[in-house]
Amino acid sequence: MDLEQLFTQNKEQSLQGRYITLEDIEPLLKKITANNQLEIIGKSVLGNPIYKYQIGTGKTKILLWSQMHGNEGTTTKALFDFLNVLNGHSELANKLLHSFTFCFIPMLNPDGAKLYTRENANKVDLNRDSQNLSQPESKVLRATFESFKPDFCFNLHDQRTIFGVSNTGKPATVSFLAPAYNDAREINESRLKAINLIAGINDVLQQYIPGQIGRFDDSFNINCIGDTFQFMGVPTVLFEAGHFPNDYLREETRKYIFMALISSFLILSENDIVINKFDKYLSIPQNNVIFYDFMYKNIKINYDGIEIITNFAAQYKEELVENQICFNAYVVNIGELDDYFGHFEYNAEGALYSDNKNNIPKLNQKADFYLNNSLKIVNGLMIS
Ligand SMILES: [Zn+2]
Repeated sequence: MDLEQLFTQNKEQSLQGRYITLEDIEPLLKKITANNQLEIIGKSVLGNPIYKYQIGTGKTKILLWSQMHGNEGTTTKALFDFLNVLNGHSELANKLLHSFTFCFIPMLNPDGAKLYTRENANKVDLNRDSQNLSQPESKVLRATFESFKPDFCFNLHDQRTIFGVSNTGKPATVSFLAPAYNDAREINESRLKAINLIAGINDVLQQYIPGQIGRFDDSFNINCIGDTFQFMGVPTVLFEAGHFPNDYLREETRKYIFMALISSFLILSENDIVINKFDKYLSIPQNNVIFYDFMYKNIKINYDGIEIITNFAAQYKEELVENQICFNAYVVNIGELDDYFGHFEYNAEGALYSDNKNNIPKLNQKADFYLNNSLKIVNGLMIS
């Protein structure tokens, strides 16, 4: 199957970039609904609707939710690309709808999506609330889980640009985890199903993004939703959409999430998860915090007459300004930073740092500066 072509044909063009809100997805949901497939299953803290969209008649039941963290919209984009496949009346669509019943919650945290925050409007991280169920959004997800009785859960997230694949210097463009269900991180039948599925997805994705797939840390935390559902005996897979070079809007990563979704259901429909692939799963390198957005090397800094050659790093903060996400670069670390990479790296070869302040880079200062009084860097990037 040509997954590139399938993506191009089904990409939901109306969803773009990092800021995905209820206003973006509501018209799409209303367009594709027929036969009561769309349902409001609850309200957020601020009273916004939480939608569920159900499609398919197959016996294997799949529950998928995205934007539990409001500022993580990449997988929502991929879900709508996938929904276009399911609603496309193709042979593939028929096959998938025959094998599966899909239950989508494409924006669990609409308030956080609007505010562009990880947390909900009460500033609670819903992915730490799966035992307390203190928030309306957590209750909605749990109630859907209990009534739908899924055979598999897909827990869809974005991860920050700081993650790389082990220490290879490659970004973790997509990461996966079969969450643990106990402290000992044992493998039982249901966790093994998630493990085998991830190993299968990894085989496919490696063809497109070799070396850019990571395995998330599997420390057990029952307050996390994936760990709870795994504990409750339902195989659960965590998807993390991450950084692809020069793709801060995550339009490229969106494609790989789409490919991972399609691959998942082909693998499951062919029942290709019965062979123990634990070793293959373990061979996916672990995620590692190893990247900054910007790394400037061999910069000369004049500290009160003492000149030092050192390195420093800057990182984008994603700031919501007038309904747009602005990527603003700030200095976040100064020093050797030997073990770190930059998505953007520049070797200044001893050029002197200066800025319009104290001529010394300071933490949390905007990455606006000069090198040798001639090269100008604005918001992290060279402009002259
Ligand atoms: Zn998340």
